[in-house]
Amino acid sequence: MNAENGPFFTRRQHPSPVAANVRATLLEDPGFGRVFTDHMATIRWTQDEGWRDAEIRPREPFLIDPAAAVLHYAQEIFEGLKAYRLSDGGVALFRPEQNARRFQASAERLAMPALPEAAFLKSIEELIEADVAWVPGGDGSLYLRPFMFAAEPFLGVRPAAEYWYVVIASPVGAYFKGGKKAVTVWLSDDYTRAAPGGTGAAKCGGNYAASLVAQAEAMKHGCDQVVFLDAAERKYVEELGGMNVFLVYEDGSLQTPPLGGTILPGVTRDAIITLAKAEGRAVREERFSFAQWKADAEAGKIRESFACGTAAVVTPIGEIKAAEGGFVIGNGGGGAVAEALRAKLVGIQRGDVPDTHGWVRRVL
Ligand SMILES: *Cc1c(COP(=O)(O)O)cnc(C)c1O
Repeated sequence: MNAENGPFFTRRQHPSPVAANVRATLLEDPGFGRVFTDHMATIRWTQDEGWRDAEIRPREPFLIDPAAAVLHYAQEIFEGLKAYRLSDGGVALFRPEQNARRFQASAERLAMPALPEAAFLKSIEELIEADVAWVPGGDGSLYLRPFMFAAEPFLGVRPAAEYWYVVIASPVGAYFKGGKKAVTVWLSDDYTRAAPGGTGAAKCGGNYAASLVAQAEAMKHGCDQVVFLDAAERKYVEELGGMNVFLVYEDGSLQTPPLGGTILPGVTRDAIITLAKAEGRAVREERFSFAQWKADAEAGKIRESFACGTAAVVTPIGEIKAAEGGFVIGNGGGGAVAEALRAKLVGIQRGDVPDTHGWVRRVL
């Protein structure tokens, strides 16, 4: 495998791709993660031969052995990033090398082989090229889902000796149709997401599996999302099930919990910190307790709160519900700082705002 340019991908065209008129109808209202493109990228890894057989090929179900390690011990990691249609018709990715590096870090934590950065980037670029007709215009984008799982048929407990790396792609619409409404979040009392020494900083399916019962509880309480506290003291706010969290104070400064093993290092989180600092805002990466969040919001010191991640970009948090009593942020409908940061970020991603940080990687 060529370390600098990535491997050579064999191309197998789909024998019967989705017809253009059917695709056009699907792209009108794709929702999130329900519609998929014609192709996928795959690379195999075996202990004896390393990375091999890089392919762009028709998207289709896998045949995996019922004893495949992933089905028993959840040795699996993933990534999520988007390809955007630029105003000039081209297609670009946003900081994909960050996803490549995080994928390597996740692999290391899950005792899996590290995919070279060039192979990660090339797999995505070649898939976009094959399925470029599926990149929506307007508010939409093509969500890319790279993932890797242990395929070795073996029930013993140790890192597997065979893996599949795969990229699938899904055209998605604006996350919140009809405007960006503020979400309501539920404070999870009974469950935590990640403990010190655990897998909180790795993007692995297991973290999500463990968060679903808390997410279901949030929905039962009429909330959109769940917010987790730290596992050691059950006191400090960490993050939502799949998004990082920010506070906006009355002086315009921002605060977000620090990374350190239990929080997922979001690419959006990092971009927001950079953009806010460039605007002259103070940004504190310091932990804050749920009690402080509540007291400062009720005293009017916290003007806004928002969550951020690739899928929904920036989402205002309007209300927090908790067994011990909740509270409302500002007027409950989101605020100007989050909206301005969202607009700037989306503008950069779509090529409408100058990319002064070198974040946009043009693919086509
Ligand atoms: C992916 C993810 C995020 C957001 O990361 P981005 O790189 O901004 O998309 C936040 N929290 C969790 C738990 C995640 O899995």
